[in-house]
Amino acid sequence: MSKTIFQRIIDREIPAQIVHEDDICLAFRDVNPQAPTHILVIPKKPIPSIDHLVAEDAATVSHLWLTIPRLAADQGLADGYRVVVNCGSDGGQTVDHLHFHILGGRPLAWPPG
Ligand code: AMP
Repeated sequence: MSKTIFQRIIDREIPAQIVHEDDICLAFRDVNPQAPTHILVIPKKPIPSIDHLVAEDAATVSHLWLTIPRLAADQGLADGYRVVVNCGSDGGQTVDHLHFHILGGRPLAWPPG
């Protein structure tokens, strides 16, 4: 199976504006930002989507959720932000590597489209 674009970013085969990296996750700016701040947070483990999470991923998922507010603070999103995880075709998922969108820097409408 061919690598996803996010795996290629992890492997440094294509460039990205990386804002955070540690042993478990990588965070980088979305190439097509939907808000003034739009960051993607991904596990280094190639989990295709939230549908593919298993019990042994609990520590990874916990780490992602604990990293997200730290990144939001680093980005100055003091007025709030949104975290989005798209899953599957109806959910709008286009890259089959689990990712959390952090969107902020403007008021965000609800409901989403
Ligand atoms: P989703 O539609 O939830 O699967 O989100 C995938 C996101 O990846 C979209 O917001 C794209 O703009 C973003 N994206 C695709 N390719 C790249 C890339 N090379 N670097 C950064 N973001 C990307």
